[in-house]
Amino acid sequence: MEFEHFYDEQSYIMGAGLEQFESEYAAFSNVKYAVGVGNGHDALLIIMKCLGIGVGDEVIMPAHTFIATALSVIHAGAKPVLVDIDRNTLNIQAEEIESKITKNTKAIVPVHLYGNPCEMEKIMSLGNAYKIEVIEDNAQAQGAEYHNQKTGSFGIMNFTSFYPTKNLGAFGDAGMITTNSAKFADKAKAFRNYGKSVNGDYTLIGMNSRMDELQARLLRIKLKYLDKWNIDRIAISELYDSELKGIEKIQVQSVIPEAKNVRHIFPILTDRRDELKMYLKAKGIETLIHYEKPIHLHKAFTFLNHKKGDFPIAEKVCDSELSLPIYPGMEAEEVIYVCDCVIRFFSKN
Ligand SMILES: *Cc1c(COP(=O)(O)O)cnc(C)c1O
Repeated sequence: MEFEHFYDEQSYIMGAGLEQFESEYAAFSNVKYAVGVGNGHDALLIIMKCLGIGVGDEVIMPAHTFIATALSVIHAGAKPVLVDIDRNTLNIQAEEIESKITKNTKAIVPVHLYGNPCEMEKIMSLGNAYKIEVIEDNAQAQGAEYHNQKTGSFGIMNFTSFYPTKNLGAFGDAGMITTNSAKFADKAKAFRNYGKSVNGDYTLIGMNSRMDELQARLLRIKLKYLDKWNIDRIAISELYDSELKGIEKIQVQSVIPEAKNVRHIFPILTDRRDELKMYLKAKGIETLIHYEKPIHLHKAFTFLNHKKGDFPIAEKVCDSELSLPIYPGMEAEEVIYVCDCVIRFFSKN
């Protein structure tokens, strides 16, 4: 029914559904404006353009994140400046950011990795002290909170991704910029649509990165369930935490008291990651690795001139991280089965 309606309207790009989803997602995030774009990568690229960050500028980010965070900055012409991660929260070390600030630093991009909010108070006060913008990469943390405030609402402009596996996933690619600034929301709307401003003039060197109307309409429906799905994820992770806490040889992600982690991924760290992955596979449990390499060791980024050893914690996490299954609707018995297998692996060997 809904689809027939969509088909009949023939409004496949920038239709009413996108506008409705934008205002609903803005309300969900507790910001004034949300701007739907093609994907998370483009969202950060458009933010760079809106803020005038480009050639000669530096953008501080964690050494351990999905490759897209760095790519957007590089495509804008700016340089990613990496900071190692905290061994417990697996997020950027807030205390280390200050030492990386130079006269060329234009922004800090905290990534709420695996759904876990960064230390936003410290990061925001650094931004204020040095007049540097904060841009949250909220791709993995839709619905997460820091001091009861939604992530994706702290920075001047922030973004998320609706890649299908994210906590709120589309049926294809989609992304969103969130901001409280009317000026930057308008600018982002122009950049995503060939630089066309509200009055119809082409005022900026824009691009084509609009969120598909079909995705927006589907996401509107799924958004209603996001809170419930996040509650599910949190309950599953609590069960994991309690079942696995007796195993000394593995570490789980820790969460700072101010934060609500929405558990996009449930990572464990172990020196025997590859062995455990194979063992679990034989038991019918599929696990993933997020991610195989830290940013500085990707071949594409050799021009950044880093070497192995530069960000030892990020490197260690990439060598030892294993993502256990977690998804809304996962049954407690399934979680227990995974935990029993993990416990058996470590007790036998
Ligand atoms: C998914 C993701 C992105 C990029 O989103 P796409 O929609 O795939 O372009 C950026 N940063 C992080 C941390 C992500 O997980």
